[in-house]
Amino acid sequence: MKKLKRLDEYREEIAQCVKCGACRAHCPAFGAEKHEGRVARGKIALADAFLKGEVDLEDKFLLDMSQCLLCGSCCAQCPNKVPTDEIVAATRREIARRKGLSTFAKGVAGILSRPELMNLLAKSGGKLSALLFKKLPQTSGLRLRFPAPFISSDRTLPPLASTPFRERYPEKIVGEAGRPTVAFFTGCGINYMYPEVGEALLKALQFIGVSVVIPAGQGCCGLPAVSAGAGEVVEQLAEQNLKALTATPVDCIVTACASCHAGLGKVYQDFGAEFAPLTANVKDIFVFLVEQGLVEKLAALPKAAERIKVTYHDPCHLRTQGITKEPRAILQALPQVDYVEMEDAGTCCGLGGTYSVYHYDTAKKIGAQKAGFIEESGAALVATDCPGCIMQLQDAVNHAGQQQRAVHILSLLMEALEEIKEDT
Ligand code: SF4
Ligand code: SF4
Repeated sequence: MKKLKRLDEYREEIAQCVKCGACRAHCPAFGAEKHEGRVARGKIALADAFLKGEVDLEDKFLLDMSQCLLCGSCCAQCPNKVPTDEIVAATRREIARRKGLSTFAKGVAGILSRPELMNLLAKSGGKLSALLFKKLPQTSGLRLRFPAPFISSDRTLPPLASTPFRERYPEKIVGEAGRPTVAFFTGCGINYMYPEVGEALLKALQFIGVSVVIPAGQGCCGLPAVSAGAGEVVEQLAEQNLKALTATPVDCIVTACASCHAGLGKVYQDFGAEFAPLTANVKDIFVFLVEQGLVEKLAALPKAAERIKVTYHDPCHLRTQGITKEPRAILQALPQVDYVEMEDAGTCCGLGGTYSVYHYDTAKKIGAQKAGFIEESGAALVATDCPGCIMQLQDAVNHAGQQQRAVHILSLLMEALEEIKEDT
């Protein structure tokens, strides 16, 4: 198996930055901090200097390299398509190689590389939920009752599932004869925090007769480890997921998490042709549902008498891969939804994997701008296609003192499908 690219393998891409500054307008970290070290151009210059030995592991360099959400917004707008997110991730791995992982990154790496430990921690957290968390009004999440390392006490958190999603369902759910079979890569967010989103995905696939395999051997996609600079953990998880997701022949592998989609479909490309059966076969759930004609089926339903105003937030990891139309198409076709587009729906929410743990204050500033756009849209719900974004959006809305709820589009889809069932 090939390894993740090293920083010195990005020399050519680094040289392609012409310092035009076009990335400044699209970088959420720069927008919040207005500091050259935050923007892609500054980071590329620093990575170059680091490679040339002109800067060492001094605090300012480490801070600037940690101030990136790996959102890819700069790359999508760059005239030379310089992959700043990849360059920053490779720089973090090089820093970890020379200096060792930070305490938090060690924790992330330790948990992700031992799925049985992750399962145990999540299940214990779920069972002790009432003791550990206090509920916020209007079911908009939880807050920690006690101080905890790396988690701010004013952060809204989703409840942990006492039974993870993958333990609730058999490994194979058979659909109608002649219909496709898909593998479902759940990701950690759905498995441990939002099992109802996985349930909604199964309902949607059942509605169109598709068979589903939920491989038990799958692990985290590895994106948190990419963000933390823990390259070996990413490689270990990639190998585990390749084995689990290609063990049974399927028509495609679906995800309902933008970050998992980017992990499996983009990051794993570094591992070469051996991973092609996985990387080339990953599909966002809404791309799959649109291909299967679900929009037409939903659009044929009568509109509900009472509808709710919903807006959509583009997760960076889907938007930068060109997936923007399909989630909107499903949302707009739902009978109970009045869709409204918010201003700058494509700007980052501020989560950025481990970014919002290290830089919660900046993450809140980025989230505050998003919360303002949600408020101005007049929507009661902000729907998206990523568990991480749901968590961050709910936090941003709560900090702004607003009433909206952040939901996965699949949850709204499930509501519509349940209506149909009741009517038949
Ligand atoms: S990263 Fe791209 S957009 Fe930014 S300064 Fe360099 S060439 Fe210009
Ligand atoms: S990946 Fe995102 S946060 Fe990082 S430099 Fe690019 S636009 Fe800014």
